[in-house]
Amino acid sequence: MIDLSGKVAVVTGAGQGIGRAIALEMARHGADVAVLDLNLETAARTAEEVRAFGRKAVAVRADVTSAEDVEGAAETAVRQLGGLHVWVNNAGITRDATILKMSEEDFDLVLRVHMRGTFLGMRAAGARMRAQGQGGAIVNISSISGKVGNFGQVNYAGAKAGIVAMTKTAAREFARFGVRVNAIQPGWIETAMTAAVPEDVRAQAVAAIPLGRTGRPEEVARVAVFLASEYASYMTGAVVEVTGGRNM
Ligand code: NAP
Repeated sequence: MIDLSGKVAVVTGAGQGIGRAIALEMARHGADVAVLDLNLETAARTAEEVRAFGRKAVAVRADVTSAEDVEGAAETAVRQLGGLHVWVNNAGITRDATILKMSEEDFDLVLRVHMRGTFLGMRAAGARMRAQGQGGAIVNISSISGKVGNFGQVNYAGAKAGIVAMTKTAAREFARFGVRVNAIQPGWIETAMTAAVPEDVRAQAVAAIPLGRTGRPEEVARVAVFLASEYASYMTGAVVEVTGGRNM
């Protein structure tokens, strides 16, 4: 059985959606969790749900694009929860438009949240895991868009492909500290991020998914827990697709 008891996990963008599901799944498997989000109210709600599993939790308002926020959140996790063993870079946004219609601001913003956010998270986590001397695991949430591209998502798909290269780079750099770094590429998962997509686009997407349905946040969360655990002890620099078979 996967056992994360005695471990402290930090999850960014954990106020809702996939991040919330990851925080809860970590707690279900015994971890204490620092719940980071832009929105302190939703972060506090997830933290309450973590406590319902009998685990410790702390909610932190943190913008992943701010080095000060990310470093502060890492310190809070270490001080209030007693260490840092797992870090999940999950926070994300979309600002979709075709290339010909996309503004420079929307291009830059999406790269900033996903790529700078993941860089700052890996730097904060890597430094503390090295100092702690007990190894650790970092899980980065990429997207299948980063593998195959996606109409209207030049910013998002580019950033998610960048996260793959950043994951492999960190895997090489952090291996000597016993820190494994892996990425997940989800396909279509039912969250606020996909809720606004028109029904015809959704139907077309579902038709291309061999398992015949969209995914649930918990189905990504379980893979994140696996990658964070000793069950994945020989995995680093790996990219795991959670897509229902889409885009094989
Ligand atoms: P979501 O429901 O919109 O949740 C994203 C969370 O990230 C929100 O709580 C949001 O906070 C937070 N966030 C946004 N910018 C932030 C920032 N600068 N600092 C801290 N937190 C921030 O989206 P989701 O679907 O769960 O997505 C989670 C991750 O999975 C993202 O990286 C996304 O790209 C990836 N993903 C999702 C899908 C999918 O189909 N849903 C597929 C592939 C990959 P507020 O909204 O409260 O401001």
